[in-house]
Amino acid sequence: MSPIGGVGINLAIQDAVACANLLATPLREERLTDRDLAAVQARRMLPTRITQRMQLVVNRVIKRVLASSKTLSPPLPVRILSRIPLLQRIPARLVGMGVRPEHIETAEVIR
Ligand SMILES: Cc1cc2nc3c(=O)[nH]c(=O)nc-3n(C[C@H](O)[C@H](O)[C@H](O)COP(=O)(O)OP(=O)(O)OC[C@H]3O[C@@H](n4cnc5c(N)ncnc54)[C@H](O)[C@@H]3O)c2cc1C
Repeated sequence: MSPIGGVGINLAIQDAVACANLLATPLREERLTDRDLAAVQARRMLPTRITQRMQLVVNRVIKRVLASSKTLSPPLPVRILSRIPLLQRIPARLVGMGVRPEHIETAEVIR
């Protein structure tokens, strides 16, 4: 995971919560299998891919800005976002909360 956006730790904590939710019971009952691990991977793959895709886009923008000697105009989606405060919540939420927020679900995890 790239450091861009400072979202890697956020994602890692959500991965850990998903692990706890899906693996606590099979671990406690000593019946963990590869299928349980595959379930964690299946749940977390999409948020990981989307987060990395967003980082690649930001990386491309940073490279273009640093390579240019001219003053660049932001792309249309960014200009629209900057004019409509309500829409600014969307990227803020994606960075702050992640694509698929995880919450502790099992009694085993809480104990
Ligand atoms: C230079 C840099 C700067 C960053 N800056 C930020 C930042 O400012 N903010 C932010 O949020 N994120 C940042 N990140 C991203 C963030 O560090 C990672 O996304 C996060 O640490 C991932 O956590 P993780 O627990 O999933 O994996 P890791 O932290 O990589 O932990 C995995 C652990 O598993 C161990 N391991 C691997 N394979 C095995 C095995 N087979 N058996 C036993 N152990 C194994 C590894 O040794 C490692 O200790 C940065 C990353 C880099 C590289």
